[in-house]
Amino acid sequence: SKTPVGFIGLGNMGNPMAKNLIKHGYPLILYDIFPEACKDFKDGEQVVSSPADVAERADRIITMLPTSSNALEVYTGPKGILKKVKKGSLLIDSSTIDPAVSKELAKDVEKMGAVLMDSPVSGGVGAARAGNLTFMVGGPEQEFAAAKELLACMGSNVVYCGGVGTGQAAKICNNMLLAITMIGTAETMNLGIRLGLDPKLLAKILNMSSGRCWASDTYNPVPGVMDGVPSANNYQGGFGTMLMAKDLGLAQESATSTKSPVFLGGLSHQIYRMMCAKGYAQKDFSSVFQFLREEESL
Ligand code: NAD
Repeated sequence: SKTPVGFIGLGNMGNPMAKNLIKHGYPLILYDIFPEACKDFKDGEQVVSSPADVAERADRIITMLPTSSNALEVYTGPKGILKKVKKGSLLIDSSTIDPAVSKELAKDVEKMGAVLMDSPVSGGVGAARAGNLTFMVGGPEQEFAAAKELLACMGSNVVYCGGVGTGQAAKICNNMLLAITMIGTAETMNLGIRLGLDPKLLAKILNMSSGRCWASDTYNPVPGVMDGVPSANNYQGGFGTMLMAKDLGLAQESATSTKSPVFLGGLSHQIYRMMCAKGYAQKDFSSVFQFLREEESL
């Protein structure tokens, strides 16, 4: 039978990802700071009380945490992974965080004789459930095959990007484009509805025309256009507006350090920050449609 794999961070994404590892026969050692997050995992999964406890019991660990500071805490904190990590361990961080933090963590991990790879994901909770996420992997190339063995249980695309931090770079670029296209889709749908078009018909036309994008055809932000997406469920679950604002902040920092112009990325960042201030922080990021509807009377 397979040796246990550690999984830390069982939120909207981590929860269905961990379930796919179980389906592939991996026993799991679980930890989340919010104990409720582990309540689905009873049969045979071991829930422990710190990241250090996970590292004591598993030499392959996946982390799926919200932010850079959460990742720093889980790896380097007083009860962090590094307190108990075994030599030769493979640590895979699938959180979307600052590439500079991934590099810093990788150095600390290397000092302990282990390896860290950054492996952020794209696809959303639907793809996490279906096991067809895209993973963008950075780190030593000779470790890629070992990482892929686990990641392929949760994703259909596992792409090697280069040294540690390059997975994050690819992810930040993707999410900047995702924010821009989501806001664009929400504005467009709202304009069409105001012009008297039926939203389902408009979405159908966009999706057979040159405006088609993931936000229009897979994750439409208008309630009633699609089933099984956050807009069909009062924008619950999915990818939080606060997390999108975080990723756009990372894109801004990267744009500044590389002197890249990101006009629309910058505007998207301000829009998502404003939404956080106006009560949308925990809703899915497609709630920008609802935000526009509430602003439009101004
Ligand atoms: P989430 O907030 O739903 O889940 C994060 C989990 O981490 C929570 O259960 C939380 O309790 C736990 N956690 C936080 N701090 C912790 C700590 N110190 N120790 C242990 N557990 C801790 O977030 P999510 O939507 O699952 O996203 C996770 C990461 O994946 C983020 O970086 C996000 O940007 C990225 N991401 C999300 C999506 C999506 O569609 N939701 C898609 C791609 C990438």
